[in-house]
Order: sequence, then structure tokens, then C-alpha cells
Amino acid sequence: MAFYGNSNIQPFQEYEHRRATFQGYAEHLGLPLREAAYEPDGWLAFLGETSGIFPLVEGAPEYAAHTQRRRARCRLCYRYRFERLAAEAQRDGFETIGTTLSISPYQFTDLLEAELQNAAHRYGIQAHFVDYRRHYGEATRLSRAAELYRQNYCGCAFSQEEAELEREARKQARKQAREQIRAQAEGQTGTSTDATACQPSVAQPTTTDETQTSPC
Ligand code: SF4
Repeated sequence: MAFYGNSNIQPFQEYEHRRATFQGYAEHLGLPLREAAYEPDGWLAFLGETSGIFPLVEGAPEYAAHTQRRRARCRLCYRYRFERLAAEAQRDGFETIGTTLSISPYQFTDLLEAELQNAAHRYGIQAHFVDYRRHYGEATRLSRAAELYRQNYCGCAFSQEEAELEREARKQARKQAREQIRAQAEGQTGTSTDATACQPSVAQPTTTDETQTSPC
């Protein structure tokens, strides 16, 4: 049995899009699907509305502190979702719960495991936790081959903001690198160069996966 419980996802259209993708794939696999109620207000209230928006631009002085605060926020998010999963599983007589979130290198794997175990314990069932991260590359390849929708932020409004900031930071870093190389080239030749003309020969810094910049 598959379970879709993601009140963290904003906006609703995004929630629906991901749900429809998951439902289509579950049908393809012949897997029965259960869906939790969509309660974004309940999710936000559970997080205490104190999380705020934490820009996570790497290199910013506040980065370490923000990471700690993001861990705290994501931990509560896992707790909220696993609570619903465990309650539903117990109600339906299942003995074990697990999660596919652990395939993402952008999630906090240690917290996922702890929160899954805690939720199972509260409902007197078992947790089966597997760290699937080593399969992330393969999963990415397969999902692209199957033309599945691939999100570009984890799910909540905070992560959407963070992902945009991170993309912008990478864009600025690439621009700076290009300008540095151009300045060096001009220094060597003593001539002025057309910025647009030199761009194609400049190596572009790459990211591992533009579509997955935040936990998902
Ligand atoms: S970043 Fe992802 S895991 Fe963390 S709170 Fe937002 S939706 Fe939940």
C-alpha cells in the first residue's frame, strides 16, 4: 500500500500535480494508493509558524545557523507526516511503515529515520527504514525516462523561497566567474574583449541536479 500525505506542499496546484504524478505511477505498478487529507494550515500550525523563511545561500555567514534551523523545521515536518502515516497504517492493520523520502540526498536522513521510528513506536507498529541515497542517480534517470514530473523545490513555501535564492546565488557565482576570467584574459592581452563573444568558451560551473535544490 502506498500513502500520500503531504500537507507541507504549497501551493495547492503543486500538491495536485505531484499527487496526480504519484497516482499515475502507483496505478502503473498496480499499487493501491491512500491519500491523507490536505491540511496546509494544520501543518503550518504544527510547525508553530515560527520557522520563518530561512535563506540558505551557501557561503552566507548565517548559513550554519540556518541549516540548524532548517533541520528543526524539517524534523517537525517529518513528524507531522509520519504521524498520519502511522495512524493510518495501524487503523488498517499494517504492521510496518517505511518512507521513500530517504532516496533524496537533500533530506536529513538521520532525522527521517528517527522520526519514522518514533511514529511507529507511538502506534505500536514497526518501522522499516532504508537509506536509499545510493540509488538517487538511477532514480533520477528512470524518472526522466518515464517522463515523470520532477519538482524543483522540496514542497513547503519556505523551501520554494530557499530554492529560488539558491538558484540566484549560483547564477551570480557563474557570472562572477565569467567576469573574472574575462578580466584575466584582458590583463594578459592588454586588449578589451567583447563579453558576449567570449562567453561560449568559458567553462560553466555545473550543479548536480538543477531540479532538486532543496530537500524533497
Ligand atoms: S523543506 Fe521539505 S522537509 Fe523541510 S519543512 Fe519544507 S517541505 Fe518539509
